[in-house]
Amino acid sequence: MEHGTPPEERNQRGRKFIGVMFECCSIYGRVYYSESKKGYFGACPMCHRKVNVKVDPEKGVDARFFRLKPGS
Ligand SMILES: [Zn+2]
Repeated sequence: MEHGTPPEERNQRGRKFIGVMFECCSIYGRVYYSESKKGYFGACPMCHRKVNVKVDPEKGVDARFFRLKPGS
């Protein structure tokens, strides 16, 4: 593990997540890290549009907050 502040946060059970602004519904939510898929996967809590944020294992993610545009 690198030194410095990791961009991820963890919930009480230790699952990593990142905060995401779902622009489709202008709502803030969380997506959780999948160890098997090496990325953050989740869905909009309103319209259930699936999102994923792939993570470079070397660099990690460089932002803790993502804006997800519809159709991207
Ligand atoms: Zn939505």
